Amino acid sequence: MPQPKYRKIAVLGYRSVGKSSLTIQFVEGQFVDSYDPTIENTFNKMVSVNGQDFNLQLVDTAGQDEYSIFPQSHSMDIHGYVLVYSVTSMKSQQFSHQTLLEKSARSVCVTYSFHLIFHRVIKPEEGKKLADSWGAAFMESSAKENETAVEVFKRIILEMEKADGNAAPE
Ligand code: GDP
Ligand code: MG
Repeated sequence: MPQPKYRKIAVLGYRSVGKSSLTIQFVEGQFVDSYDPTIENTFNKMVSVNGQDFNLQLVDTAGQDEYSIFPQSHSMDIHGYVLVYSVTSMKSQQFSHQTLLEKSARSVCVTYSFHLIFHRVIKPEEGKKLADSWGAAFMESSAKENETAVEVFKRIILEMEKADGNAAPE
């Protein structure tokens, strides 16, 4: 059995887009409706992908808006980024575009879909196009659905492996 690989992942995005909900759904398997938006938290989770165990450290970042860009000190030891925006907020998508371009090499770009679909303002094709322009992977997910939340983190693992030259069969 190969040793678990340690990987640190930052979850980034505009405020209130569902960063904490998505992270907690993945880590704890539950949807948390209200989570203090000012808290930055770190979670650990073991996950197995293609027979390899990964010891994940997830940094659920807080308080990002136009005035507080992700601190540079953070990006030192991070292997991958999950960038979240809300399909209900054009602003949150534009924000991710403005501030996170340079992080794209290893990022997965995520939207989460509100169940109130009539509030949707960003179509999946538009998200995909944006992610393509960064060379990032794209997925839609919902923090209310465990399966899609898990998929996001499995996908970023695969993207990180690809970036490290350990491409797994698709
Ligand atoms: P953060 O500030 O980016 O960490 O956002 P939160 O995770 O705190 O979520 C902000 C609000 O959106 C909360 O009221 C959540 O319950 C709600 N929310 C988060 N993800 C989803 C989702 O996938 N679907 C729905 N319907 N609501 C969500
Ligand atoms: Mg949060």
